[in-house]
Amino acid sequence: MCSICEKPLVDRAPVVSVLHELQDGYERLDCHPECWKTAPREWEPFSSWEGVYSAPPPPDKKETLKKETADELLRHLISLDDPAMKNVVYVLAVMLERSKILVERDAKEQPDRTIIRIYEHRRTGESFIVLDPRIRLENLSDVQSEVVALLSGTKTLGEVSSKPEDSAEGNTEATTNGKEEPATAPAE
Ligand SMILES: [Zn+2]
Repeated sequence: MCSICEKPLVDRAPVVSVLHELQDGYERLDCHPECWKTAPREWEPFSSWEGVYSAPPPPDKKETLKKETADELLRHLISLDDPAMKNVVYVLAVMLERSKILVERDAKEQPDRTIIRIYEHRRTGESFIVLDPRIRLENLSDVQSEVVALLSGTKTLGEVSSKPEDSAEGNTEATTNGKEEPATAPAE
């Protein structure tokens, strides 16, 4: 449904998606491009992008459990909003992007050189706002193995987040622009 005129969105038709920054988070709007262009508003979007609307498919019982688990884990981690998990959240999001489950829609560099990346779930259209903490390459494999341990159930969230963080803070000397090269895909 269009967030402005409240009429249905058409499958495979263009759609404008907008993040509206609120005091305690973000509101996601999906609108007809004409509605977005013409409707009056008194705020500037935090982010906006054009895409193609795809109507949510009927629930697919054959969907593999593993992939559900990976994006379920991301939802859960984001809802926890635990700074100790920021590296894990980011690496998991990148792994989901590489598995074509998420697509990156926007990236905003912060004054401290971290980047806010906005991912969209290809199937459900949800948006995920993920901080890219600019992990140093030498820390990346540790984070990846934590993500894999969480996905495979060999570690709990408590075990991962209570682990003392070494040099993840103040990693301002990261020299690469954009993303490092994390793993290929969540463990199958
Ligand atoms: Zn509309």
